[in-house]
Amino acid sequence: MIEAGKPQANPLKMSSLSPKAIIHQKYGDKASYKVEEVQVTPENGCPGLVITQKAPPCLYRCILHLPETTVVSDTFKKKREAEQSAAEKAIEKLGLRQKEYNPTMQEAWDDLAGRVAFLFANEFLSFPNPLSNHFRAALRRDGHFNGFVPVSVIAVYDAKTTTSICKFINPAAEMNSLLVMSLVSRAAAKLSDLVIVSDDRLSVQRRNLYLPEIISSINHEASLSESIPLDVILIPVSCEKAVEPLKLNISATGYYLDVIAQALSLPGASDIIISRTIGKASSEMRIYSSTPKRLFENLSEPLTKQASHVEGSLNIRATYFAGQEIHGDAILASIGYAWKSTDLSHEAISLCSYYRFLFSLLPRNFVSKIPSGPYKVSRDAILAAQLPLAFTTKSNWRGSFPRDILCAFCRSHHLSEPVFSTQSSMLDSSVNLPGSRKNLKATELSKKEKSELGIAAAPTGAISCNIKIYSKNQELLLECSPQESYRKQTDAVQSVALKVLRWLDIFFEKPDLSAEELGLLAKKFDIQFTHNFVKGFSLCHSVHRSGTTITQVSNTTFNNLEGQNSGVTPANGCLACINYTVSLLGEGDSTKEYIESCEEFEFEVGNQAVLPHLDAAVEKMAVGQSAYFTVELPLSELILAASGDSAKTLSLLSPRSCKLEYCVTLLQVTEPLEDRMEQALFSPPLSKQRVEFAVCQIRQSSAVSLVDFGCGSGSLLDSLLSYPTSLEKIAGVDLSHRGLAKAAKLVHSKLNSLLDPNEPTSEMKSAALYYGNITEFDPQLHGFDIATCLEVIEHMEEEEACLFGNVVLSLFAPKILIVSTPNYEYNVILQGCTPHSQEDDPDEKNQAQACKFRNHDHKFEWTRAQFQHWASELAAKHNYSVEFSGVGGTADVEPGFASQIAIFRRGEESVSSMECGSEYVQIWKWSREDVAVNC
Ligand code: SAH
Ligand code: MG
Repeated sequence: MIEAGKPQANPLKMSSLSPKAIIHQKYGDKASYKVEEVQVTPENGCPGLVITQKAPPCLYRCILHLPETTVVSDTFKKKREAEQSAAEKAIEKLGLRQKEYNPTMQEAWDDLAGRVAFLFANEFLSFPNPLSNHFRAALRRDGHFNGFVPVSVIAVYDAKTTTSICKFINPAAEMNSLLVMSLVSRAAAKLSDLVIVSDDRLSVQRRNLYLPEIISSINHEASLSESIPLDVILIPVSCEKAVEPLKLNISATGYYLDVIAQALSLPGASDIIISRTIGKASSEMRIYSSTPKRLFENLSEPLTKQASHVEGSLNIRATYFAGQEIHGDAILASIGYAWKSTDLSHEAISLCSYYRFLFSLLPRNFVSKIPSGPYKVSRDAILAAQLPLAFTTKSNWRGSFPRDILCAFCRSHHLSEPVFSTQSSMLDSSVNLPGSRKNLKATELSKKEKSELGIAAAPTGAISCNIKIYSKNQELLLECSPQESYRKQTDAVQSVALKVLRWLDIFFEKPDLSAEELGLLAKKFDIQFTHNFVKGFSLCHSVHRSGTTITQVSNTTFNNLEGQNSGVTPANGCLACINYTVSLLGEGDSTKEYIESCEEFEFEVGNQAVLPHLDAAVEKMAVGQSAYFTVELPLSELILAASGDSAKTLSLLSPRSCKLEYCVTLLQVTEPLEDRMEQALFSPPLSKQRVEFAVCQIRQSSAVSLVDFGCGSGSLLDSLLSYPTSLEKIAGVDLSHRGLAKAAKLVHSKLNSLLDPNEPTSEMKSAALYYGNITEFDPQLHGFDIATCLEVIEHMEEEEACLFGNVVLSLFAPKILIVSTPNYEYNVILQGCTPHSQEDDPDEKNQAQACKFRNHDHKFEWTRAQFQHWASELAAKHNYSVEFSGVGGTADVEPGFASQIAIFRRGEESVSSMECGSEYVQIWKWSREDVAVNC
């Protein structure tokens, strides 16, 4: 029998040794660990590959040789972990653990009782640890609770020892603190001469009084401290009821758990069950709720593993928050005893921090329940920023990087670190074209031809990356393996991480998606997810179903623009810099509560990097202009997360009478590097030279009709109109709505100004813009005199560029086709003299000496040989002649023109087949008659 007051040696001392230490005790130097790196073998790997194989994260495996056996660990990110894992495996394999601590059921019960006896011994009270502080506080309580220590406190604050003993009695105890409580109270019941267990078995008291000195010192402590006002959060069990702030008054002489109990309308501290800590390790933030009595009683006899929850009592929000089952109303509070001190440490939790936390927006905690949450925080723009559509370039990215966000997400959901593996696939070994991402399928070159064309044989790689996400138990949850490949490893890694984040965001935002819709959506994102994924995240869904989703803001009222139109407008790929303020507007009473603002907020245009209404506003603005608009309220949680003064904001929030007002000023627009280079390094700018080149061709051929394939924002069409030409009919096609909208605006005002009867500069009769894919044929645009396609093909995959070539010459069949594209060889000059060439990461210095592409959206950039090969073969196939020219630089000075141009001319006898095609969508039309009639 265990004697009162005599602390027992910790029976688990041996097994608390690390696996390596256990192996060392037994084998000493005879144990040899060998750690090896686990190679992510590139597919079609090539020993001479220039690209560094620094796959993040590097994984390690450990091989442990022992006299009687050899074991191999799993793979880990840290060498240390791999070694421990190998040791653990050896221990299991050799059954070493049994010699350490493997009690019989009886021994385990005795040990548990021994532990309880130890806790209630005199000595324990003088150990300065969080649990003994609870014991002391319990002694300060008034009335019949005096000295009663809640069993839940023992289960939580002595978890390490208590739980590890309980595990031997019932393995389910490891994950179930209710079960631990039940076992502890049963063990305590066996110590009837030492302790008294309350009737409900939820608290334990020492039978004999502590020594008088101890009691008086405890009372002395209490009289020194003052009472503490504490801000906590009440999370009602009913999702219909709002989460609300609550003020508790923790009295100096009492026990803080009694105060929390009172706030939850529970009789006393013993009725409380305490969650594990939430957030960062040092935090004392926990959820306090009522012990589910029925569950607790069911646990007593016989011991079952059942965890069936009492229908309706589960507090979904709190459960989600704590990551463990919580029943009934709950209080979120940050309070607890510190080590080596008798002080109660505590921190206020405001409603704002609750919401920030819930959206994983609390920066310091770095917990990310919702994938885009940390992104918004990292940009400090909760009501403006949004996880962008694509990772274009590192230098254009603002805020936390996708990879880091994804890692944080996994950590906060108790998953394993995501495993990224990059692969360098070699280009087809027979065609190693610098500047070419893929094998040029349509134009296979023989070795002989290659050497004739002087094509370098240096290999270039394309890097692709996939992600696997595993649970803590190494079950595969999700895998994303996109087809896309990148020239830079960072781009490959960040892009795939972003893809996963965006999909997760949708998954969280749309809890009502059916399994089928979810599957389809996943496919679009190159994602495969397992049954375990759905199972693991179903709870998050229930929370969001209860109304905490970040929804898209709808119903924007867009008011007028203020300020002069400077003409500088943001186009796709530009960086826009704005200044914005968001305020809460009370309708009727004209109250205005400021919520969020940013003096200089920069984002990439056309990449969905800001909320849709803001994006739409900026699209219409020119530098120097301001716009005001109001939107319907997004969910209040989002506003509360953004707002500093949540109490005031909350009082104003009443969905029917409030709106959000945005005030935005466009401060600056930074054009993409390619455009800046073209303007800065060429005079006139390269784009202007391309227009002049086209005008020259129009004049020479007396062309009457022109179609511009890939017209973008209409710069060519607009500029053409400034020159006197024979053109009567012009058209533009593009796949960018944004570009087309701009083009329509530009060309429309230009045409109308040309109609001035005093300046009859133009013969123009009609103009139209179409939304369409130029690799598809539309008979409406058949047989034009001139077709242009300037700086477009490099934005398509090489296969598509070949397809476009075939479609345009065989079906659209213009008399003349002008195609321009960057000359890759010229990049040496551009990049040698631009200060931006060092802006990317240093990794790249080690990579291929090859030049970068001029624009992140370019899928390839061809050398002169490649371009000429493509064009000559195409021309021959469709009975066109072709000649080569260019702008920027000259033909006979190396490395040739900056922009290379091919001019195709239709042969006399060529017949084009007029196949049917799909019709493009006409999105804007102008005709001279219409305007004349209107005048
Ligand atoms: N020709 C314009 C724009 C060049 S940018 C100029 O010289 O300024 C390339 C343009 O090609 C973009 O506007 C893009 O939307 C368009 N584009 C790319 N692939 C396309 C396709 N398959 N069909 C139509 N337009 C395409
Ligand atoms: Mg381009």
